[in-house]
Amino acid sequence: MVLCVDEKSQIQALDRTQPGLPLKPGRCGTMTHDYKRHGTTTLFAALSTLDGTLLGDCMPQHRHQEFIRFLKRIDQHTPSELDLHLIVDNYATHKHPRVERWLRRHPRFHLHFTPTSCSWLNLVERWFQNLTEQRLRRGSFHNVKELIQAIGDYISGHDQNPRIFVWSASVERILTKVAKCKEYQRLKDERFTRLHLDHVPVVDEDNLSVDYEGIIREAIELGYQSVMVDGSRLSLEENTRATRKVAEVAHAAGVAVEGELGAVFGHEAGPPPPYEELFASGKGFTAPGDAKRLVEETHVDWLSVAIGNVHGAISDALRNAKKVEARLDLKHLDCIYSNVNIPLVLHGGSGIKKEYIREAVRRGIAKINVATSIRQPFEVGMKESPAAARQAAFDATVQVLREELGLQGTRRVINPEA
Ligand SMILES: [Zn+2]
Repeated sequence: MVLCVDEKSQIQALDRTQPGLPLKPGRCGTMTHDYKRHGTTTLFAALSTLDGTLLGDCMPQHRHQEFIRFLKRIDQHTPSELDLHLIVDNYATHKHPRVERWLRRHPRFHLHFTPTSCSWLNLVERWFQNLTEQRLRRGSFHNVKELIQAIGDYISGHDQNPRIFVWSASVERILTKVAKCKEYQRLKDERFTRLHLDHVPVVDEDNLSVDYEGIIREAIELGYQSVMVDGSRLSLEENTRATRKVAEVAHAAGVAVEGELGAVFGHEAGPPPPYEELFASGKGFTAPGDAKRLVEETHVDWLSVAIGNVHGAISDALRNAKKVEARLDLKHLDCIYSNVNIPLVLHGGSGIKKEYIREAVRRGIAKINVATSIRQPFEVGMKESPAAARQAAFDATVQVLREELGLQGTRRVINPEA
């Protein structure tokens, strides 16, 4: 059983009921600023990654004694036959000799430390954010007892309807993104390139919720210039809500946002639906009216659409298979573009006939995602060596740019100032 464990210290019992100072002109807000402080508490919390339930305990302080007390609570409240893997940060309290001694006597406990300054990797941080935003920030508490009661009520409310937070990628893969971004900053040449983070899903292939906001905030801090939030597995309302939230955060930092509407098939675990059937029925194609609403209500900067394009399959059984030669419904593209009037994105760009691609660009497609025709040579190269894989990826990229997309020598067209 995996538990994300952390403490939120110094939570204040603030009494905001007194009349506030008159607001200065040009400032809006409803919270008063002269509140009374009535003491603090520390919340220890353990979030189960299995079912999203949460074990929490408020304590007056935040020392190794309290941490051990909380470990004992975890011990009592989890099935005794299970091994427990606790994800915690590097805070010294978690490594105190007394704690280590206690752990040696309780061999079913295993602690895993998140790297320094990567505490955001710990999912319980997300839960703390929700607690703060939904209950603490606007609450008013006369004393610590009332505060603890409110936290307790919030936890019981959460446990009646637990939501599982998961990462779309393993921790290692997220750290790889960090490393990639650093490498990009070292090598970049902005006459030619921008850094974009693709496909952060709100709900992943297995229908699990992803901490998309946390991942995207991190990407923005790292220096990504554009991010994508993929809410295409959700209803239009939920997709709109998630995309709008991301756009607010990203636009505040001057970062562009790509949204997605419609189903670009290929990443599912099972075999994809037969292509001709899919194309003929228009199944999963982006609905133009929905696209208009999504763009108007979220202010996304570009939109990924489904018009016959499919992803290359990434399941183990199919990842080496030749990709189907997809076609594009150009009339449908016209209809979407005239409704939204923002640059459109074509996912699944590998293996589409050149004529279709060129025509699509004339009709509003401004970004083309190409993965399969680069990934497959890379994976073949990896069987030999990382250097061979790098060379294969480079050759394949040049081939796509020159032969398939015919982009050679177009830098001044795309980027005239550079
Ligand atoms: Zn895609």
